[in-house]
Amino acid sequence: MTVSADTAAPVRVVDGVARLVAATCGACGGVTFPVRERCPACGSHGLAETLLPERGTLWTWTTQGFEPKSPPYVPDGEFEPFAVGYVEFPGYLRIEGRLAESDPERLRIGMPMRVVSYNHAGVSSYAFAPEEEEA
Ligand SMILES: [Zn+2]
Repeated sequence: MTVSADTAAPVRVVDGVARLVAATCGACGGVTFPVRERCPACGSHGLAETLLPERGTLWTWTTQGFEPKSPPYVPDGEFEPFAVGYVEFPGYLRIEGRLAESDPERLRIGMPMRVVSYNHAGVSSYAFAPEEEEA
């Protein structure tokens, strides 16, 4: 299935499990997230949709104690400090994202993380939640 950068949401729920939507280049095999029109490595248009594994590991993280710059951030009047990090999907790539857990005491590098989808100011997006925090 060929991907379109215009229509591809970054996250999709499949059988109740949130998965990130990436693209694999048919020419060089590179994996791209989010989906783009062309492969950033070789310029090919032959990208195919790839759903990343539902879990990765926390590669590194930090906390953000102030509201992000707007735009692109859409303030909703309910800002609270949060954590952001990179989650590594072995064999694919590392992806930056917001973490659903903001307590530094409960985050550690290398811990398993799962993808969660959430809605912010009407826009569908994704975050990463510690696996231990199973709902
Ligand atoms: Zn390529």
